[in-house]
Amino acid sequence: MRSERRRVRSLLRELGLPPHPTLAELHAAYEARTRRTLRLIEQDVAPGEPTGRFEQYLTQDLIYYPKHTSRAHQLLVVCHELAHLLLGHIPRPDAIDPAVVRRVLGRSHYDDPTEHEAETIGTLLYQQLNLAPVDGPAARLAPSLIHREGRHV
Ligand SMILES: [Zn+2]
Repeated sequence: MRSERRRVRSLLRELGLPPHPTLAELHAAYEARTRRTLRLIEQDVAPGEPTGRFEQYLTQDLIYYPKHTSRAHQLLVVCHELAHLLLGHIPRPDAIDPAVVRRVLGRSHYDDPTEHEAETIGTLLYQQLNLAPVDGPAARLAPSLIHREGRHV
């Protein structure tokens, strides 16, 4: 876990970020560094479906995160998917994320080393985030998480 922690810190440094950025800062730095648009999209997730996924297009990256869950879990999913992107993983739409497997089976299970890596780095990334209130309760956890309609959550 120690070397992974170092890796997360160096990922943040490479993005020109302080050790504890907000999600909004992380989002902006990712876009600036990659010169790509990153869209965070809330979606309904049926039980048993992957909670999150990412897609890559020519000029933009999309991260889908679940609608009906706690904000902490939403953030965790976003960080997991962001870790895939930062680590240069290839999207695998049929992969079930470890978060789901854990919920379903009640234990941790990794078949895929990229899932393990994204889960570890994503969780550490989440722990590094500054979740302090920014501008009232609405902006508290995730100022850059948006509804499809463009509303802040
Ligand atoms: Zn994953």
